[in-house]
Order: sequence, then structure tokens, then C-alpha cells
Amino acid sequence: MELIFGTQNDNKVEEIIKLIPPNFLVKSLSELNFETEIDESGATLEENALIKARVIFNTFKKDCFADDSGLEVNVLFGKPGVYSARYAGNQKNSQDNMDKLLYELRNEEDRKAQFRTVIALILNGSEYLFEGVVKGEIIYTQRGEKGFGYDPIFAPEKHGLTFAQMSLSQKNKISHRSKAFQKLVQFLKSKI
Ligand code: IMP
Repeated sequence: MELIFGTQNDNKVEEIIKLIPPNFLVKSLSELNFETEIDESGATLEENALIKARVIFNTFKKDCFADDSGLEVNVLFGKPGVYSARYAGNQKNSQDNMDKLLYELRNEEDRKAQFRTVIALILNGSEYLFEGVVKGEIIYTQRGEKGFGYDPIFAPEKHGLTFAQMSLSQKNKISHRSKAFQKLVQFLKSKI
């Protein structure tokens, strides 16, 4: 069964291919020469994931899925959330985004936050959503060099390290994205 993964990010495709049962052939957008940037205009992660999956479905008329992730900070009522990539502006710069967040939280003792991923799957004409969450806190100054985005300032619960101090395989064991992907994979296995 062929499934299109609606992402321009080939690292994500590589990650999911390792998890998906061999009966499913996952195709990436770059393999299909689809280079149009999809307008992520939704107000929630769920909406954005669905927007992307529907564009892919309407273009290729094939089963597909798409993901959207964000960092949700308690005292900011879930912000930056769906705006995580462009929190400090359309330049989508990780350092600017972290600086802005640390500034917003400069007087806050409650540093609780979570990363959340939502995957929207369109299979045989029906839509399904899968969610993965990792809870933690925003630390006061950056630690670690690995990863991307907000990794240097996000410390998942019970680890004493930021995501940027973890190896990729350590991060993948607990990350929001891998939890959501695993739910998707479980669901797909139940359909075989
Ligand atoms: P995307 O939907 O996976 O592209 O994620 C949107 C934005 O959320 C990214 O550009 C990052 O700013 C942030 N983000 C999502 N996942 C992570 C992560 O695992 N570490 C750090 N930042 C992340």
C-alpha cells in the first residue's frame, strides 16, 4: 500500500520509514517532485496537519499523512504553539525564537511546557488524527549543541538534560514526534 508523507523534510521521512511496516511504501514529496510550499494558515496544530494532508490528497488522490508540531508553554496559554517556527518573525530563526521566549519568561517561575505533534492521516477517504506529547520545562539559559529549534532550552521531565544535550536516538525515544508516529504506525498495522 502506498502512502505519501506530506513533508518537505527528508529527515522526517527517513525517520518514519524505519518505523512503518514493509507493506506500506512511504513516498516523500521530493520523490514526487512536489515543491509548492503549503500555506500553514490553521489556528491549531490539528488544523495545520489537516490542511497539509488535504492538499496532498487533493493533488495526488492517494492515501497520505502530514504532521505539525509546536512548543506549548503553560504561562503563555499554549503559545508559541502553532506559531513556533515563526515566533520571532518570518525569518524563522531558532536563535531569535529562543531569545524571544526566554525574554517573555524572564520573570516567570512556572516554566512548564510541552512539545506536541499532531499527525493527520487520510486513509481510504477517512481522516484520522494522532497526537504525541512530551512534557518538560523551559530552562533559563541554553544548554547543548545538538538538535534544532527550541532544543537547547527545553528539558523533558526526569532526564536532567535538554533535548540539545541528548543524542538523536535518546531524543527519539521520548519525543513528541516519535510518540505520534508510533501511534500512526500502530494504527496502520491494525489495518493490514
Ligand atoms: P514542525 O511542524 O515539525 O516543522 O515544527 C514547527 C516548529 O516547532 C519548528 O520549526 C520548531 O521551532 C518547533 N519544534 C518542533 N519540534 C521540535 C523539536 O523536536 N525540537 C525543537 N523545536 C521543535
